[in-house]
Amino acid sequence: MAGISRAIRACSAASRRTLAAASAAALPKEAPAAGVRAPAAATGRKGRDREDGRRVQWVFLGCPGVGKGTYASRLSQLLDVPHIATGDLVRDALAAPGPFSKQLAEIVNHGKLVSDEIIINLLSRRLEEGEEKGELGFILDGFPRTIRQAEILEGVTDIDLVINLKLREEALLAKCLGRRMCSQCGGNFNVASIDIEGENGGPRMYMPPLLPPPQCESKLITRPDDTEEVVKERLRVYHDLVCSTSLRLLFHSCILLSILYHLCNLSAPFVLVWVWKMIVCHR
Ligand code: AMP
Repeated sequence: MAGISRAIRACSAASRRTLAAASAAALPKEAPAAGVRAPAAATGRKGRDREDGRRVQWVFLGCPGVGKGTYASRLSQLLDVPHIATGDLVRDALAAPGPFSKQLAEIVNHGKLVSDEIIINLLSRRLEEGEEKGELGFILDGFPRTIRQAEILEGVTDIDLVINLKLREEALLAKCLGRRMCSQCGGNFNVASIDIEGENGGPRMYMPPLLPPPQCESKLITRPDDTEEVVKERLRVYHDLVCSTSLRLLFHSCILLSILYHLCNLSAPFVLVWVWKMIVCHR
């Protein structure tokens, strides 16, 4: 996968140059690799390497709150590749003081997408750091979210699999509003108890809360963009941009799995095992 970050940069260089300079100056170079969920320790070949030496290059699509991050991070450990969430890259950039984070906060806290230029700059920098560390694959979460991002990604990488998770709108809203993070250990929890009647004779949807351990209870925080108003805007933006523009059609050279997992009343572990089996059969 060497060179992907450079290729992504090259694809978008012309229009990105000005913003890249501004954001690169504002982002501290010594900051820890943003958005990285540490890959599992290299205790053997967990992910099967291909002949060219690289590991899986997968993409997780889905509405805010659908659970992309949860599944992507679990699979990244199984496959020994980093889970790279562009939302995490953005949040890390937000946490760095300076005018760039103020500019980002204005966008993110209103539920809008940041520009392709900014997101590509953040992602290519993260991929470059990964290349330097010898990373051989990735699971992308939250990217691409626009046609242009998809075209750039498809132009410079060989994506093996796109997993598109779906969930009913009322469950998405409840999941986003129930999302909590421990400000100390960084653990992710959900206080929402979702119990929704099935539609048109479909199965009832039940998702129990994922409660924090006692030591985290008093340290829970909510993302500023997880308010009802902002979540509704994020869902609207997602549907407008991602669904209506047939983003998925761009991934014609890879396998696309659409998983309506809660609609089918499938449990999360089942989905994970199913995805895993599909991958093993495919390779
Ligand atoms: P997420 O955690 O994936 O919901 O992302 C949080 C926020 O980061 C989004 O609401 C967007 O403002 C921004 N963001 C994340 N990924 C992208 C992307 N691929 N393109 C544009 N904006 C993004």
